[in-house]
Amino acid sequence: MPRYDFRCRSCGATFELSRPMAQANDPAVCPEGHPDTVKLLSTVAVTGAGGAAAPAPSGGGGGCCGGGCCG
Ligand SMILES: [Zn+2]
Repeated sequence: MPRYDFRCRSCGATFELSRPMAQANDPAVCPEGHPDTVKLLSTVAVTGAGGAAAPAPSGGGGGCCGGGCCG
């Protein structure tokens, strides 16, 4: 079960909770009882998705001219 770091914005305390990933974004309550907490980013870094490269269109020129059939 992954652990998540939280920081309390009321008292500034940091704490970590072990919880299922399905509850990763659930609000956490400070050990002091303050509900105003934020989840800190830990070692897991998510990079942004880059644009997918579009395949170059093939063709565009007549292939038969290379053989002299057009002339
Ligand atoms: Zn607190």
